[in-house]
Amino acid sequence: MTRRLDQAQAQCAARGAQLTALRREVLELLLLRQGSAKAYDLQDDMRVRHGRVAPTTVYRALEFLMEQQLVHRVDSLNSFVVCNLDPGPHDHHHDHTMMLVCSRCGQVTEVHDDPATEAIRRALHVDAPGFHATGIEIKGVCGACQAAAA
Ligand SMILES: [Zn+2]
Ligand SMILES: [Zn+2]
Repeated sequence: MTRRLDQAQAQCAARGAQLTALRREVLELLLLRQGSAKAYDLQDDMRVRHGRVAPTTVYRALEFLMEQQLVHRVDSLNSFVVCNLDPGPHDHHHDHTMMLVCSRCGQVTEVHDDPATEAIRRALHVDAPGFHATGIEIKGVCGACQAAAA
C-alpha cells in the first residue's frame, strides 16, 4: 500500500503536480475499498478518520486524482476506480481504455486493448460523424456473478 502510494506521489511529482497528504489519503481510502467506491463512501471514510469533512474536499481530491490519471470515473455506476496500470512514466491514454462494468456486483475491470477500442472508435467515426468518444464502458455480468448464478 505504502509503495503504491509512494509511486503515485512520484508520478505526480514527475509531472510537476503535488500529491498532498489529503489527496494521498483519498487515494488510500479508495484502494482500501478494493479500488472502487462512490464519492460518498469515501466521504464516510474521511468522516470516520477526521470527523466533519466538507463534501467538496473529497470531490476536489478526486478531480485531481483523475487529472493525474491515477483514478477514473465510471459514469454508469457514478463511482470511481483506481487505475490498474502501475504508476510510472508511461503515457496513459485513457481514451484507449475500456471499462467492463458488472451490473450485478458493480465490479469494474479496466482493459487496455488498443486494437479493440480503435475498432470501436473507427466504427463510431463512420456511424456518428463528428462524435468524439472519450471513454468506453461496457455493461455485463462478471465471471464471479455468472458462477454464483450457475
Ligand atoms: Zn487507467
Ligand atoms: Zn459481478
